[in-house]
Amino acid sequence: MAKDPRRKGRPRRPSRQFREAIRAEAAKDTHEFGTCLLCGEPPQMVGFWIPTKRFSRTFGFSATKTGVVLYSLCQRCAERPDSIPSVEERLLEERMREQVLGV
Ligand SMILES: [Zn+2]
Repeated sequence: MAKDPRRKGRPRRPSRQFREAIRAEAAKDTHEFGTCLLCGEPPQMVGFWIPTKRFSRTFGFSATKTGVVLYSLCQRCAERPDSIPSVEERLLEERMREQVLGV
């Protein structure tokens, strides 16, 4: 069986400047972050995921730029030991559903 491509490579740690830009962007888009991605409760934090090249295409990002997917979580879900893989799975599921529905 092929390895899960989401596990390939080491996670890249974004620079402080990049993280601050993400925070500013998230603050502008509060309407999209009204609920926890995993459970639907009111969120306490915004996170971001940088997909690998393959999944960047799934989200329609340019091949020459680093794409970022923002999401929000409540404290309880953020503390789950499986929160990161669950978030990636949910974001991909939602994207696939959007593509099927032509959103
Ligand atoms: Zn939650």
